[in-house]
Amino acid sequence: MTLDVGWALDWVHAAATSVAVHRDELIDLDRQIGDGDHGANLDRGFTAVLARLDGLEQRPAQVGDVLRLVATTLMSTVGGASGPLYGTAFLRAAKVSALPDLDASATVALLEAALDGIVARGNASPGEKTMVDAWAPAVDAAVAAADNGASPAGVLAAAAVAAEAGAHATIPLVATKGRASYLGPRSAGHLDPGARSSELILRAAAEAAAST
Ligand code: ADP
Ligand code: MG
Repeated sequence: MTLDVGWALDWVHAAATSVAVHRDELIDLDRQIGDGDHGANLDRGFTAVLARLDGLEQRPAQVGDVLRLVATTLMSTVGGASGPLYGTAFLRAAKVSALPDLDASATVALLEAALDGIVARGNASPGEKTMVDAWAPAVDAAVAAADNGASPAGVLAAAAVAAEAGAHATIPLVATKGRASYLGPRSAGHLDPGARSSELILRAAAEAAAST
């Protein structure tokens, strides 16, 4: 079993739906430790992604083509910290996904590239209460799953479970990067909005793969 451009399109649609469903929750989370725009920012971005996909005259050929469109659209429409972070994540992921089909190791490479992009852009380490706290354990779990012979869908399922745990584990953390760091110790006790949205996006990837 491999992941093709159909999966990439399903992923993007599922992510857009999930972000829309959780828009108010993400706004609320960002209101607690930031400026309250995260849900609206991301929803605007993914709505623009769907519009651009709808407007394409030709179906994209490769996974990377879809991810590049996501990257450029999020970069120009999301704003805030998360626009450039997600934009860079999808751009790096696109670069390693210029393939018609992804096997398990290519799926791991996609996730690793996305995390590398987030870290290159935002310079956060795990434990700083950012989206890295969802992506880093997701990548670790993906590597372990692939080493154990998991399919691409199995790799993504493992990544999604780990992202959920990683996002939840941001609650007690004190933020030392991004807007939430302005609150210092008062940032503890709240779920990081970017970690939560990362969990949703990775869950969407796994669900799209499970239904292919
Ligand atoms: P802003 O903080 O500019 O309003 P958003 O609300 O859209 O931007 O996104 C906030 C999220 O961005 C945070 O919850 C966090 O997960 C993520 N974030 C902020 N700074 C960084 C960073 N340096 N590295 C990784 N993620 C970050
Ligand atoms: Mg914000």
